[in-house]
Amino acid sequence: MDRLILWDVDGTLLSTDGIAAEAMRAAMREVVGPAAPLARTAYAGKTDWQIIRESLPTLPPEEIGERLHEFAAAYLGRLEGQREALVARSRVFPGVTAALEALGGAARQAPLTGNIAVVARIKLECVGLLPLLDLAAGAYGDDHHHRPELVPIAAARAARRYGQSFGGRQVIVVGDTPHDIDCGRANGARTVAVATGPYSLDELLAHGPDVALPDLSDTGAVVAAVLG
Ligand SMILES: [Mg+2]
Repeated sequence: MDRLILWDVDGTLLSTDGIAAEAMRAAMREVVGPAAPLARTAYAGKTDWQIIRESLPTLPPEEIGERLHEFAAAYLGRLEGQREALVARSRVFPGVTAALEALGGAARQAPLTGNIAVVARIKLECVGLLPLLDLAAGAYGDDHHHRPELVPIAAARAARRYGQSFGGRQVIVVGDTPHDIDCGRANGARTVAVATGPYSLDELLAHGPDVALPDLSDTGAVVAAVLG
């Protein structure tokens, strides 16, 4: 168990069918007022704080910083209110559960996601993946706005929990966007890209991951890709 697999959530493990993105936009409107223009921005691979900053370009960054906790509370409240819809409409991608189970005997596994921690928990809980990941060894969008900073945060948490260090290619980052690949590579981690999000296999391959897979449905291929 000398390896730490850090799984992205949206587009990699699951989809909420747009419920979470809609809740996020509603929360932004609730906090900044209905008149504030929300800029269109791609959400995939970005931290929640990054999405908020990019969505509200007319607000001074210091004001956004001060109001992030208000936003988090509004977002969480809206998602809690949508829990039934989340359970009904969210889906785990093919092979995810089998891959997590297969890798659980060989490595520690935690989320590394741009979601704020409470939101990551709700999403994983609603699709039944919570028991397969150690959330206390993960890193989240409220730990840092810049995704590459999340890898050492997760590694430090895992080290404290398991009493051993995880560095370099003992850490594997799995995700569905170039941001995931970049954040793993910036930290010397092994990177596995999966084309179940908005990016095609070719687009992901162009960013130079160690391995890119079309999806996670072939458990043997996933285990080989992750463990190398
Ligand atoms: Mg993703």
